[in-house]
Parts: sequence; structure tokens; C-alpha cells
Amino acid sequence: MSIKELPLLPLRGVIVFPNMVLHLDVGRECSKKALDEAMLKENLILLVAQKEAQIDEPETGDLYLLGTIVNIKQMLKLPGGTIRVLVEGLNRVRIKDFLHSQPYFKVMAEELEESEIKTAETEALMRSVLVQFEQYIKLSKKIPLEILSTVSEIEEPGRLADIITSHLSLKIDQKQSILEAVDPKDRLEILAEILGHEMEILELERKINLRVRKQMEKTQKEYYLREQMKAIQKELGERDERTAEAEEYRDKMKDVDLPEEVEKKVIKEIERLEKMPSAAAEAVVIRTYLDWMLELPWSVQTEDRLDLKIVEKILDEDHYGLEKVKERIIEYLAVRSLTQKIKGPILCLIGPPGVGKTSLARSIARALERKFVRISLGGVRDEAEIRGHRRTYVGALPGRIIQGIRQAKSRNPVFLLDEVDKMSTDFRGDPSSALLEVLDPEQNNSFSDHYIEVPFDLSQVMFITTANNRFTIPQPLLDRMEAIYLPGYTEEEKVKIAQRHLINKQLQENGLSEKNLRISEGTIRHIVREYTREAGVRNLEREIANICRKTAREVVKNNGYRVTISRSNLHKYLGPPRFRYGLAETENEIGVAMGVAWTESGGDLLAIEVTLMKGKGKLILTGKLGDIMQESAHAALSFIRSRVEALGIDENFHNEYDIHIHVPEGAIPKDGPSAGITMAAAMISALTRIQVDHQVAMTGEITLRGRVLPVGGVKEKVLAAHRAGIKRIILPVDNKKDLAEIPGNVRRRMEFVFVEHIDQVLEKALLKKEKDESKESGTLKVSLQ
Ligand code: ADP
Repeated sequence: MSIKELPLLPLRGVIVFPNMVLHLDVGRECSKKALDEAMLKENLILLVAQKEAQIDEPETGDLYLLGTIVNIKQMLKLPGGTIRVLVEGLNRVRIKDFLHSQPYFKVMAEELEESEIKTAETEALMRSVLVQFEQYIKLSKKIPLEILSTVSEIEEPGRLADIITSHLSLKIDQKQSILEAVDPKDRLEILAEILGHEMEILELERKINLRVRKQMEKTQKEYYLREQMKAIQKELGERDERTAEAEEYRDKMKDVDLPEEVEKKVIKEIERLEKMPSAAAEAVVIRTYLDWMLELPWSVQTEDRLDLKIVEKILDEDHYGLEKVKERIIEYLAVRSLTQKIKGPILCLIGPPGVGKTSLARSIARALERKFVRISLGGVRDEAEIRGHRRTYVGALPGRIIQGIRQAKSRNPVFLLDEVDKMSTDFRGDPSSALLEVLDPEQNNSFSDHYIEVPFDLSQVMFITTANNRFTIPQPLLDRMEAIYLPGYTEEEKVKIAQRHLINKQLQENGLSEKNLRISEGTIRHIVREYTREAGVRNLEREIANICRKTAREVVKNNGYRVTISRSNLHKYLGPPRFRYGLAETENEIGVAMGVAWTESGGDLLAIEVTLMKGKGKLILTGKLGDIMQESAHAALSFIRSRVEALGIDENFHNEYDIHIHVPEGAIPKDGPSAGITMAAAMISALTRIQVDHQVAMTGEITLRGRVLPVGGVKEKVLAAHRAGIKRIILPVDNKKDLAEIPGNVRRRMEFVFVEHIDQVLEKALLKKEKDESKESGTLKVSLQ
């Protein structure tokens, strides 16, 4: 083969195969010079690839030793000094010797002969390469499909390999290896190997692409959908509000110290809220619920001040008298502080209205430095009022206990349950059984309210209850409580309470000072007697408030005015007297006897009137008398009928007269057996025409044989009689023990007559008949033996 002296042009990143026609842009100085040299000699130049494309000034060692001799067909100078040449590959050439490398490469090179003889083997190789190439084109999608048809027409095995290689995107060293395979068979084999490898890679690439695309599609789809949802929600004005709201709740939750169980519940509810359109009815329910949960004082507690001296001082400061009650309270607290536990019986303050039950409880809270809450149980007849309604209920709320705790903002307040005796039971469940759970120290550390669903610890709460009437407190509740009785005040005590507490309190409340109002003790007593009739001091306080308001008006009108209230000008402030002080009846009368009754508001006088009318022995009872009282009237009548002779009564009276018993005031219901002897006395008076002493009051149950049985509420009854100016009171002998509870000054001013039998009552209460004295007294004497 011929050896030629040729200029050399180093190629960067390209390999030119024989039979290829292509453009090259030449910019390097040495390359341009090589081109110039070539133009001088038959337009031939050797193209050899650099091993590394980035080298600008290659040395001989940077060049492959096998290249292609090309014919320069065209040269075009481009602006900027670059020369575009069109070359056509002719033959493979091997460099034998480098003649020089400056200013351009010049080599001695040998042109290589290529055999184009087809053997069966090369034929087979050609076919398989073509098949591979076809698959390659399909897989890579970078080569136009037409190429396949031109390529498949090539007959020469070597040329086929060269052309296919020139279309592949391969690395330089791979292409160079094809160039260097001079034998077409070798060349096809190498190409087949490279194609196989490339296809594996392409296949892998395809799989990866597919996977990536699937993944992409999925995330893209989610992203797209989410964006769309956001847009819709935004359009409806929901999303942002809702997440902001949930965040707000979460922040709030961080600020309060919640027990684990509660926290879990709250988190769950917040999540539910988040998923819900904010206008949904259910969302409103959840919001209210969360507000409740986050505002309850789950772990907020106040420190107790268990200094009994201070407690005593504060109780004395706030309340006049009530010595025994205060003592009991102090003892109760002492035991609690010694045993260091809050468990124990619950205090129950029992007494008529206005005797200071509520204000005592308030003082206890003040003394212990605890929060104070009060709920009234009067009229509660539904268990749900104590324990709350389930959330499924429309407008459900927690029960009153939890409401009170939220109001207290501490989990250990003094909690006053007012009027435990006024609860009632019906088909909606028994509130007292729920209350039992509240008050039971064994159970109340996990009190369950239907609304809040998680248990609340009530064990640190100090419960105090109040009642007007011991007898209507449900028995199981009463068993758990320590009853303290506040019977009511005497006139003296009321005057003192007014002077020391009520007047100052009302002055303050009306923005007045002591200088603005003068009110003497005598005037206060007058108010007590003629403007109030009660066991407590509630109305008294109201009257004083009335005076203070009017005083305030005058003080404002005539700047700095000082008001002096006396008996003479009292009516200007309070109107005419409301009650007549003194006896209920001012004269002795026939058929009228004075009883005393126990009422919710203490005691009261009860005049019983009896009148006889022509008739057939009917007993008419009016004045809203209850069953027991009616029976008691019948018992009294039966007793009288069995004793007509001894009593000096016409034995046929029941055939000639109807008897009407009336007890004013007619609109107020009355009941109980304690008016038995009073009704008997009034009937006997009416039948015998003997007057009853109007200065005597009486109480006692009567049996068919005329025995007098003990009654309840003696203390209140005696105080009421005293209030009304009664001097003598007839009581059953078995009630003698109750006298100990009556204040000394009242006891000293009254005469107590204890009786066992109705005859003794008659002796003390009925006057001797003035006319025809001998006969009447004679009859009476008989009865008294
Ligand atoms: P209750 O709860 O028994 O119905 P309150 O506690 O409401 O009665 O008392 C009514 C008013 O009378 C309150 O203003 C209270 O301060 C006052 N009060 C009652 N008893 C006394 C007392 N012994 N000393 C001072 N104020 C009293």
C-alpha cells in the first residue's frame, strides 16, 4: 500500500469514516495551516481524532494513530475567521511517522486496503446488525426512520458498519474502535456488540423513563387535584378559614395543661373540624365542644389558706351572731385540715330564706381563698341538668356542675348547691342520683358529664348545700350531709344585723357614706316590726336598700344632704306599715283559735276559724288544706263527738249543724297534723260558745282519744309567735327538749305551757264563760278531771 506524506487535521469529538460526506468548521490556527498545505497537494488531508476533545493544542501523543484520508471538496470562509469545509472520506489511514507538529502536523501515513468480499459469515453479521439497528432506531427515536432504508441497501459489509456507526451517538473511543477494525468482519462484530450494549441501555432507559413518568403522572395528578380543590374551597370561602381555625385551637391547646386523655380527645375533635366545611351544622357543635374543653380548669387550682384564726375572723366580720353555726363550720374545717383530705360529709345549711346561708358559704370561700360558685337546684327535675346532654342532642350543653366549674375557673372552688330540697323527680330521670355521684367522695374524682364525655375530677371541690326544709331532702343525699340548722333571727338579732352589716352594705352599694344617713335603733326596730315579717333578714335588707335609694336621690338633689330617718318620717320612705305589730287578733273571740305553723320562710301565726250553720253535721274545710290537715280536722271532730257530754255540748249537734273550718290566708296551701289541737279548740269554742284567749297560741297533733303528740319546727314556731307578740304558747309535752334551742331572751319573755291532753289545752286557752258562769265552768271542770 502506498505511503504518503500528508498534512493532519486533529478532530475534536468527531470521527470521520470513509465514504462519509460532511461539513467541518475549522478554527484552530494549526488546522487552518494544515488545510492550506492540503490545498496545495491534491486537496487531500488526514483527519485524526484527538483522544480528549478539550485539549486545544494537542501533542502527537494526544492523537489516535488511525484516521481517515479525506478529499476537501469545498472551503468557505465564515465571518470570524472560521473556515467551513466540505469533506468526503476516502480511506482508512495509519500514521507511520510524525514529520512535524509545528506549525501544523505533518505525518507519513499508510493507506489501508479494505476487502469488501462478502462471506456467509459477514452476510449473517450484516443482517443481524441491520436488525439491531432497526430496533435501535425504534427505541432511541433519535434517528429518522428513512435512514434505515438507505442503510439496508448497502452491500459492502465494511461500509455498512461505517455508515451505521456514523449515525449512532457513541463515545469517541467506541467509534474509534470501529474505525480501527480494518477487517469488515471484525468491524461488524464490534458494532454488533456495541449495538447490543446500547440497546440494553436504551431498554433500561425506557423502563426508567416509564417509571419516572408514571411517578410524575401520579404526583402531578395529586398536585393538580389538590390545587383544584384549593381553588374550589377558596371560591367557597372555606379552606383558609378552617385551617386557621384549627391552628388557633391547636395553639390554645398548647397554652392549657390538659390531662392526656383530654388532650387526645381534643386533638381528635380538631382533626374532625378541619375536615368539615365550616358552615356544617356539625362544625358548630364541635366548635362549642372545643371551647368547653379548652376552657375547663382541668388542672388549675388555688392554694388553700387553712388558718382557722383567719377563717374565724372572716366569719365574724361578715356575720353577726350565728355562734353555734360558726363553731360547727370551724370544727368542720379543722377536721379537714388535720386529716389533710377533702373527703368527708358535705355541709348542708338548713334554714328559712334570708338567714345567711349563701353569705356564710361565700365567707368560707373568702376565708379559704377559694373561688366561689353557686347554682340553684330549685325546680331541677331532669338528670341531664346535673349531668348534661349527650352531644347528639340539638343544643346540648354540659350539666350545671360542669358549668359551675367553668365559671369558677378553678377545679377546687367552694361550690354552693342551693335548694337541694327543691329538686323533683320525674320520667326524665332522677337528678338526686346524679347529685349523689357528684357528692360522693369515692366517685367524684371521675365525674362523667354526658356532654364533655371525658371524666372530670371533682374531688378537690368543696361542696356546700342549702335547704329550707330538711324533710324534703332526698334521704340518700341527707345521709351524706352534715346538717347545720339556722332557725332564724329574733328581733334583737335583726336590729343588730341591720346596724352592723345591712345598713353599711346598702350605703356602699348606693354610693353613700355614713354621714348621709342617720337611722336610729328604734326606727330599725320599727321597720323590723311593721314592714317585715320573716325569719331571715332578706326583706329587712330590701327595705333598707329602699331607704338608701331614696336617700341617694335626695343627696344628689340637694348636694350633701343628710337624711335622718325616724318613726315619724318613715312612711315617706317605705309607705304605710305593711304588718300590724302585736297580736294577730286583738280581741277574744268565739270560734277562733291561734295556731302556729312552720313554713318555708320560718314560722307564722295561723288563725283557725270555725263557724256553725244549720245543717246535717257536714264538716266543711276551706283554706287549701292538705290531706293530713283534713284528716286531722276529722280526728278532732270525732274526738269532740265522743266527748260531747263532758264538754257540755248538745249531743245532737251533728244532726243540726254543719261545721265550717276555715284557715286564712285561703290561697296558701297548708298541711300537716300540727294544727290538730288548734282546730279542736276552735270547734269546741264554737260549740260551747266560750271565747278563746287571743294571747295564746298553740301547736300539737291530736289523737282520737284527745292525746297531744309532739310536732316539728318548734323553734321557728316559737320565734314566729314571739314576733307576733304572743305571750303564751301551748306545746306538746314531748317538745320540751326543743326549748333548749330557743334564744334565751325569747325564752324569758314567753310562757310555755306543756300539755299531754286536749283537756289541758282547753283549760289554758278557753276563757271562762262570763254569763251563766257556774254552768259553763262546771261542765269544763268535769272535762278537766
Ligand atoms: P339565704 O341564703 O339563707 O337565703 P342570704 O345568705 O342570701 O340568705 O342572706 C340574705 C342577706 O342577709 C345577705 O345580704 C346576708 O349578708 C345577710 N345576712 C344574713 N344573716 C346575716 C348575719 N348573721 N349577719 C350579717 N348579715 C347577714
